[in-house]
Amino acid sequence: MPRNESMDNTCQAMYRTLATQNGLQPEHVDISQSVLYTSIMGLLLVTDKERELQLGSGQIGLCNVGNTCFLNAIVQCLSHTRGLRDYCLRKAYLHDKYSNQEPVLMNDFSDVLAGLWECDGGETTVNPGKFYRMFKEAVPRFIGYSQQDAQEFLRFLLDRLHTEINRRPSHRPAVLAIKEPKYSRFRISDEALDMWQKHLDRDDSKIVDLFSGQLRSSLNCSVCSHYSNTFDVFCDLSLPIPKKSVQIVTLKECLDLFSQEEKLDKENSPMCERCNRRTESTKRLTIQRFPRILVIHLNRFTMSRYSVCKSSVSVSFPLHGLDLGPFGPVDCGPVLYDLYAVCNHSGTVNMGHYTAVCREEEGWCCYNDSCVTAIHEKKLQSNQAYILFYELKSCNITSQ
Ligand SMILES: [Zn+2]
Repeated sequence: MPRNESMDNTCQAMYRTLATQNGLQPEHVDISQSVLYTSIMGLLLVTDKERELQLGSGQIGLCNVGNTCFLNAIVQCLSHTRGLRDYCLRKAYLHDKYSNQEPVLMNDFSDVLAGLWECDGGETTVNPGKFYRMFKEAVPRFIGYSQQDAQEFLRFLLDRLHTEINRRPSHRPAVLAIKEPKYSRFRISDEALDMWQKHLDRDDSKIVDLFSGQLRSSLNCSVCSHYSNTFDVFCDLSLPIPKKSVQIVTLKECLDLFSQEEKLDKENSPMCERCNRRTESTKRLTIQRFPRILVIHLNRFTMSRYSVCKSSVSVSFPLHGLDLGPFGPVDCGPVLYDLYAVCNHSGTVNMGHYTAVCREEEGWCCYNDSCVTAIHEKKLQSNQAYILFYELKSCNITSQ
């Protein structure tokens, strides 16, 4: 546990200083059993956890440093993700991460957030240039001045930040796979939990705590009726938008389409474990484990043969109480989410602009690069909504 190790080192250093000042011989004292040590340790833990953050309003814009509205919009949405914001502002990752390497991107990202939440109100805009340069160094495909996709940026950013602040070592020796019975009789929930645990053994960070969930893909062979499950970790749900003649659909219809049973022909089916060959099958996606922060990507951009098309259908979404229960395990009950940020995309595929709308203490604000304006919650629904950020409100599942 790197966190405790570093805390331990701090405590031992403090203890040595105090012991020396008081004429004790630290070499002869069992530090770990010392009362003084324990008190200091307790004190440090309390102050570290309960230190109140001094926050400004957070209503500060980001300058556009060359086609960077995609970055500005996503940073504002993440800046309003309280769990992540507080973790960054406290620099808690410094004690939390396993690696000894400098978390350079996380530091720059945290600096941007610190600028946005500064409480003396000195700055009117924050320049994300240094953070963006560091990001491009880590993810070279973002080099250049062309417009980038906000969802792609979000995925890469969370992935890079996670890598820097992972609580697990990055290159763990591969564990030899233990041959498990081909079609075991595990309960689905046990199997899912086992897969989740294996994931946490390699990848465990604040990013995982907040954004990661687990998808279950169940496959049903049409020849022998054999059922099999695979479980995958997700950090966002990318939802298709149903093609209808009307210009407005609901988020629930997008979720229904995402989770709808899909027929796979022989060529596209995986091997059936029991038939031992490819057979026609059906596949269905459900959410096995709900993330604390649910990121929903409305897949407006579709590749046609020669170009990318943008769907301008309006998708209506609830601000409160989005229930994902129907897309979870059987009988999981309601799983309710509240909206706190939206990343909007206006314009066309090639000439587009990103903005963010975020929930504040009182009402909502629109973040358009350096410009911040209040916005009525009735104006949140539009055909520009592209990425929705929801926070888990209640959930009855014990395994969560
Ligand atoms: Zn089969």
